[in-house]
Amino acid sequence: TISKTITLANGVEMPRLGYGVFRMKEHDVAYQGVIEALNAGYRAIDTAAIYENEEAVGKAIKDSGVPREELFITTKVWNADQGFDNTLRAFETSLKKLGLDYVDLYLTHWPKPTLADTYKAIERLYEEKLIRVPGVSNHHEHHLKEVFEVANVKPMVNQIECHPSLSQNALREFCSANNIAVTAWAPLGTGIVFTHPVIKKLVEKYNKSAAQIVLRWHLDIGNIAIPKSVTPERIKENLNVFDFALTNEEVATITALNTFHRTGSDPDNFNF
Ligand code: NAD
Repeated sequence: TISKTITLANGVEMPRLGYGVFRMKEHDVAYQGVIEALNAGYRAIDTAAIYENEEAVGKAIKDSGVPREELFITTKVWNADQGFDNTLRAFETSLKKLGLDYVDLYLTHWPKPTLADTYKAIERLYEEKLIRVPGVSNHHEHHLKEVFEVANVKPMVNQIECHPSLSQNALREFCSANNIAVTAWAPLGTGIVFTHPVIKKLVEKYNKSAAQIVLRWHLDIGNIAIPKSVTPERIKENLNVFDFALTNEEVATITALNTFHRTGSDPDNFNF
């Protein structure tokens, strides 16, 4: 068995499976999705300023009646708002839109030349107890090293694209050695491996869906995963992965499906 939460570097417990809300700009869609997710038992929500749904997420949180201390809310500072002062301002805006008085995890969304100043602001928010955990997203090893140079407190989470077609072995190892938990975005990898014989065999063996096999692989390699869906059945399905486990050999077989295929941008080569 595996615990439903992971203990971060400062002792804070973060749910291993969260609900991602990217591409859910429409207020009602985001609101309904978060309500479904919380009813299904999710306790972590992953949003970002650029997703333009922090207000809907905040309203759903409030209306759900789930006690704030049971929730783990992540949001991110957008690229255009990087830098020390701008990040502090962006955080205040996010907090207001979410209708919260603190955020659990705050991330630099993408690394830019201003990533060190941006991280210092996140560290300040941590010192002021406005966030419970400082983190980053889309940071390669060299970006993390840049952060380490200025950080009093190292980031405790790095949210990166990770799925069987991009298993991120080297970066996951580096993060683990530095006590940084890895959250996988696009954990399902747009379903590229769903029909692969390796996955199909496990679908039959465990009587689980391909999505569940892939999400279980994330848990078994130590990742946090934040799958997105707006379909109530799938929202439930994606959380129902704690009642079975893959063998070490099966985990290794899935990890070996890696083809270095990205569904999104390479953090070293993006222009937004
Ligand atoms: P994902 O891997 O979660 O895939 C989502 C898509 O998979 C859905 O749109 C749906 O079509 C399909 N799907 C979901 N459940 C399924 C199931 N059970 N069976 C079959 N298909 C299913 O990819 P994502 O939405 O890109 O990423 C998840 C979350 O990660 C986002 O919502 C966001 O919160 C976060 N994210 C972060 C970054 C970043 O830069 N930090 C970038 C992208 C996404």
